[in-house]
Amino acid sequence: MENETVSRNFIENIIDQDLKDGVYDTVRTRFPPEPNGYLHIGHAKSILLNYGLAREYNGEFNLRFDDTNPTKEKTEFVRSIEEDVRWLGADWEGRLFFASDYFQQMYEVAVKLIRKGKAYVCDLTADEIREYRGTLTQPGKESPYRNRSVEENLRLFEEMKEGRYGDGEKVLRARIDMASPNMNMRDPVLYRVAHLTHHNTGDEWCIYPMYDFAHPIEDAIEGVTHSICTLEFEDHRPLYDWVVREAEYPHPPKQIEFAKLYLTNVVTGKRYIKKLVEDGTVDGWDDPRLVSIAALRRRGYTPESIQRFVELCGVSKANSSVDYAMLEYCIREDLKLKRPRMMAVLDPIRLVIDNYPQGQTEYLEAPNNMENPELGSRMIPFGPELYIEREDFMIDPPRKYKRLFLGTEVRLMNAYFVTCTGYEADDDGTVRVVHCQYDPDTKGGNAPDGRKVKGTIHWVEASNAGQAVVRLYENIVDEEKGVYNKEDGSLNVNPNSLTTVTAFVEPALMKARGYDSYQFVRNGFFCADIRDSKEGAPVFNRIVSLKSSFRLPK
Ligand code: ATP
Ligand code: MG
Repeated sequence: MENETVSRNFIENIIDQDLKDGVYDTVRTRFPPEPNGYLHIGHAKSILLNYGLAREYNGEFNLRFDDTNPTKEKTEFVRSIEEDVRWLGADWEGRLFFASDYFQQMYEVAVKLIRKGKAYVCDLTADEIREYRGTLTQPGKESPYRNRSVEENLRLFEEMKEGRYGDGEKVLRARIDMASPNMNMRDPVLYRVAHLTHHNTGDEWCIYPMYDFAHPIEDAIEGVTHSICTLEFEDHRPLYDWVVREAEYPHPPKQIEFAKLYLTNVVTGKRYIKKLVEDGTVDGWDDPRLVSIAALRRRGYTPESIQRFVELCGVSKANSSVDYAMLEYCIREDLKLKRPRMMAVLDPIRLVIDNYPQGQTEYLEAPNNMENPELGSRMIPFGPELYIEREDFMIDPPRKYKRLFLGTEVRLMNAYFVTCTGYEADDDGTVRVVHCQYDPDTKGGNAPDGRKVKGTIHWVEASNAGQAVVRLYENIVDEEKGVYNKEDGSLNVNPNSLTTVTAFVEPALMKARGYDSYQFVRNGFFCADIRDSKEGAPVFNRIVSLKSSFRLPK
């Protein structure tokens, strides 16, 4: 966001031209979510795009709930959406609106259209309307109610509003062109009767506006200049333009479409996520395996990493899919210098230093981040018994193995050189304890005689170690099989998407609180879970591992 991009995207080009031509003298954008679910990474793109444009042109960005559909909306979602938009850093500066607050104005526009002969009340059933609409190759047929007088239409529409008709008995339709090559222009429905209680307006209304009629009016009322939406609305643009023109708004907004963001092998559809939540595959809309904004936040993603990701995705007119690895790249890059590098052992075996004084503990200084001295240092306990990763010792190592095996010397990170002198294993070869000797002259990790070691391993001192639950994730869907089952369209769920282990961690980590994040040396970036961590008993979610084959495209 802070980087000046060399080439302007196509939306910026349109806005530049509009300002130059005096079509608008300011820029106002909006994010218009329907409060029927949690926001996901795709919405983040829309939010940051709209907010970014408003910022760039010194304009304004509105948050507006598109709550015209009374059946689906929930206040729980309103709350979560506000939280997510705020967290992403998109500031609506108090301009928070609800489309339902405009119901009266929408109704007045409908009356105006009737007066102009541009709308009529139609008694055809939904099935008949569909039948009359025709097909892509065949023009539609005009409704027998199309030529009702203005007076009759006004009276019937008023009666619709008063509740004289049941659901589906009558609709208000635009009077445009039943032969239009664009199906959306074949006398689309503007208002329907629905005896439903609305979360905001209660039982005040029993007629509700359709999306294609309501949305342009919402934009026009708020003085939105550029109404940015996704490609599936391209065919609806003539209707959008028709509504704002016939409603006679002085500075009508302009609709611009861009391609949705899709992530490879990732589920974003609300329908699928809802199913995963309902059947208990995940532990809620914010389960760290999902890509809802709430889930990404809980997993340990930062607003900066998502901003960077959206920026790298760019804005385009062509649908395409972005690799999840790019999102991981962004969080790794963001946290690399910002977070302390701590030691945690996820799959422990004991390391006993036989020549270290029994019962002694000393404190060694460890830099918090080798690449960022500003993070300072901390003191970590060291003693005769440590935990190291099981994979850092081998009885029978392959040729290039650089860690511990009989007779070799390695560096214990921030501590001493140790030489492996023996091990204890079960009959099946499972190693229990590794024995070694340390060289007291190598304190801090360097030998005075300049001798080198091939490997450095991390460790946690046993008597002071904390025990923490650590969760490791894989993709929630089975990438080999593909996201969706070819037969029934269900999700191919990966049974190994969550692994829980108990790790030994350095004592400082036991103070972690929800959202605190760290690099665990060699194991990745981890974040204390906001829901399951307790005071003194953190639960860590792995945000991302350290290694990746992902390279930023040139
Ligand atoms: P979904 O299809 O996931 O249910 P939606 O489009 O129904 O999402 P809305 O609340 O209607 O969700 O969307 C609010 C805004 O977010 C709209 O302007 C929509 O175009 C935009 N949006 C939704 N999904 C994406 C996406 N994948 N990429 C970019 N923008 C998106
Ligand atoms: Mg929608």
